Amino acid sequence: MDLNFVQADNSILPKVDALMVAFFFKNNADYYAAELKHVKTTMSGRESYGDDATGYVQLNREHGLCTLKCKMCPEHKVRSKAYNVTMVINENESEIISCQCHDCAASAGGCKHAVAFLMWVHRRSEEPPSTSVECYWKKPTLSRVGTTLKYITVQQMSKKEVPHRPSTSALYTDFILQAKKETSTL
Ligand SMILES: [Zn+2]
Repeated sequence: MDLNFVQADNSILPKVDALMVAFFFKNNADYYAAELKHVKTTMSGRESYGDDATGYVQLNREHGLCTLKCKMCPEHKVRSKAYNVTMVINENESEIISCQCHDCAASAGGCKHAVAFLMWVHRRSEEPPSTSVECYWKKPTLSRVGTTLKYITVQQMSKKEVPHRPSTSALYTDFILQAKKETSTL
């Protein structure tokens, strides 16, 4: 654990409501653009990814800011090292200051691990208050059960970024236009 940090549990986790999440994504739309495009896929395909993958959550409260750190377990066994995500919340203003993954240089940290951790904290906030203490400083479930991967997208399989492709309808229009040109020259 880091200096001045304590093990996070359900009694000390900061509150992150839906409005805070909405504001954060709205204000950081450019930063998260690529990830948000895939949010629907991520949610339907791996609803529990954030829950299974989140581990070793530690917390620090200083100068009105709450800093949360966690280790996100990789979704597939291509990589064995965990992803470190840090989230900073201003609890007085009910504002998420930042949420960044330190191990995804390509996306400047605005990656699915950051999104997954943010949503994990949000889901914990929505849970009914419990009398029992649940500690979040523990190994992620995902890393314990071995491979629980049920599906993989083509994009995840290819290590390279998939370049921007025109939408199907644009392709279709081009195709028709081209076909018309070809037939008229015959
Ligand atoms: Zn990441």
